[in-house]
This record gives sequence, C-alpha cells and structure tokens, in this order.
Amino acid sequence: MIKVNEVGWIEKEKPACGPKDAIVRPLAVSPCTSDVHTVWEGAIGERTNLILGHEAVGQVVEVGSLVKDFKPGDTVIIPAITPDWEAVESQMGFSQHSGGMLCGWKFSNVKDGVFAEYFHVNEADGNMAILPKNVPIEEGVMLSDMVPTGLHGADNAEVAYGETVVVIGIGPVGLMAVAGSNMRGAGRIFAVGSREICQDAARKYGATDVINYKEGDIVKQIQEANSKKPVDKVIIAGGNLDAFEQALKLVRPGGIISNVNYLGSGDYIKISRLDWGVGMGHIRIVGGLMPGGRKNMEYLSNLLKYRKLDVSILLTHRMKGFENIEKGLYLMKDKPRNLIKPVVTV
Ligand code: NDP
Ligand code: ZN
Repeated sequence: MIKVNEVGWIEKEKPACGPKDAIVRPLAVSPCTSDVHTVWEGAIGERTNLILGHEAVGQVVEVGSLVKDFKPGDTVIIPAITPDWEAVESQMGFSQHSGGMLCGWKFSNVKDGVFAEYFHVNEADGNMAILPKNVPIEEGVMLSDMVPTGLHGADNAEVAYGETVVVIGIGPVGLMAVAGSNMRGAGRIFAVGSREICQDAARKYGATDVINYKEGDIVKQIQEANSKKPVDKVIIAGGNLDAFEQALKLVRPGGIISNVNYLGSGDYIKISRLDWGVGMGHIRIVGGLMPGGRKNMEYLSNLLKYRKLDVSILLTHRMKGFENIEKGLYLMKDKPRNLIKPVVTV
C-alpha cells in the first residue's frame, strides 16, 4: 500500500528478529477483503508504504534466542492476529485487543504484512503453529483468517443445536460462518448472497436455504420462508450498514446478532428502537475480530487434518509466483462472479 487508493511494489530492508520473534518467508499467501477496505476505503486511516497481507503459511528462516518451539525450516501457519500475550487485554480474554482496540491485528495494519519476501512474527512461540503434514499449504492459508473469522462469528452468536441462523454475506468469511454454525449444530441456516458459486458452496457447508438479496428485501424473503417466525441468531459477514437493521427485524427476543464484517465506511450503524424492543428486548449485538494465537491455530488445523472441514471449496483461483499477489489483490477488490478466494504460492 503506497497510500490510500494506491498499491504497488516497494523495496524495504529485511526485518530484524527480536529475541522472542521469528522471521518467516511465505510459501503461500492470500489477499483479504480487509486489505481492500484498508486500501480503497481508507477504512483505518492513511497508511503509507505499508506492506499488505495477513494470511500466510510460511517457512521459518530465523528465530530469536528465546524461542523454544520453532526452528528454521519449520512450515508454519501464521494467524492474521498475533497478540502480545503479556498485555492486560490478553489476560482479560481479549487478546485481539492487546495494547488497545484492535492492536492484536498487526500485519498490514500497524506493521508490515506478509506480502513480502520475509516478514516478522512477534512472540513466535505464542503466535505460530506447525502446519500438519497432510494439509496442503494453500489450504493451510485459510487457517490464518477465513476459518477463524467465520467460526468466531458463529461462536459469538452462541449458535446451539437446532437453532435457526441467518448468515448475511457468504464470501469466504460468511461461508466459514455457515460451516461453523453447522458444526455447532444449527438446524436451519439461511445464507444470504448473490454469487452462484458462493450459494453452491453455502449449501455444501450446511446452508438449508439460500437467499439472494438482489431478488428483494431479505427480511421479507426470510420471514416468508420461516412462517413469519423470528430467527434465533444472525451473523453479519457482508452486506452494508443496513445489515444491522435487517438483523434486528429478523432476530427473536433474547437473540444474538454477531458481526464479523469490517465496516469500511459510514459513521454510524442504525439500531431501530422498536425492533430492539424499545431497549428492553435482550437482543445482544456483538462484533468481533478473529482470535489469533498458536493454540487456536492448532485446534483449527485439526479440522483440516482430520477432514472435518474442507476449505478447498473456497480456493477458486490458485496462482503461482510472487508477482501474482497483486493480481490476487485486484481479484479480491473486483470480485468476479466465479471468485470465492484466491491463493498464491510463492
Ligand atoms: P466478500 O466480499 O467475499 O463477501 C461479501 C458477501 O456479502 C458476499 O456474499 C456478497 O454477496 C454479500 N453482500 C454484498 N452486498 C450485500 C447486501 N446488500 N446484502 C446482503 N449481502 C450482501 O467478503 P469476505 O467474505 O472476504 O469478507 C467479509 C467481511 O469480513 C469483510 O468485511 C472483511 O473485511 C471482513 N473480515 C473480518 C475479519 C474479522 O476478524 N472480523 C477478518 C477477515 C475479514 P455477492 O458478492 O454474492 O453478491
Ligand atoms: Zn483478513
């Protein structure tokens, strides 16, 4: 990212390795819709000469003197969120915000990201995990961000057996929210999106109903299909600021609206007083950044290792060569109809 609205290639020094850190070279990376919000919406403010990217599987090239569990040559998953584990926020259970709001999100936010020949990982023992041998590196990249974010949406919604869940937005993140809801035992899952390839994938991940927002008001469509009954949970993984209003119209008293969408523009979200039970409806609205960290990556990688979750469905565009990262980023920006997620091996 040269500056807001401009990307290109830059030369930088190879990063230095602190005693607890690692230097890694990427083996496979994937651009994220968040990179698009950051560059083309300026969603987190100006950034200049910042290396983008926060989804990678890589090979360790150097470790600091205090790193115990990793060595050069290891193939590792690097989560998008790499907290400072000693921070008070981490001790309180919100490592995503170690050091301040969103500060566990370092790559392509407050420090250089993974679209580089070498990148730096803070607190290597706490923030990397060995990629299981039977998981292909391209699929492993989905553990950096897409899998943990979608599952976080379902976790924050506290999806329970038999519940009816709506997932607004079924790009790769929403699809993993569908899969997460399904794994947590949801009964009926409405998936909202228009790209056919995403709709098909949603069905594979457990959606029972697919709703196209381009074919009319999603609230009406879902209410009609659900015999006018409210739903238990709504997960927002796409759409625009109207999604909160829509979710409030859909969810039952005591229900949960769980947002993982990166709200790239606009100043306020609207909460309708009446739909929110005039402030007394016990409807919780929660928004969360995905949890990073080693143990989480180890648990999630088991889903791939033991074939409980097939992320190969997401990988519609596979490319080879460092220079194709830029092409991948533009694919993520332009979202052709046949795209779910690009991955680049380097
Ligand atoms: P995509 O752009 O691939 O998917 C967005 C989805 O929203 C698509 O299914 C799209 O439908 C749908 N959509 C668009 N407009 C509407 C609308 N008006 N009503 C309903 N649905 C609509 O995004 P990703 O899956 O890659 O990412 C989703 C979000 O998650 C992004 O904001 C990303 O930045 C964020 N994110 C958040 C993280 C976190 O930790 N919380 C981590 C990673 C990403 P279609 O294209 O089919 O028309
Ligand atoms: Zn991301």
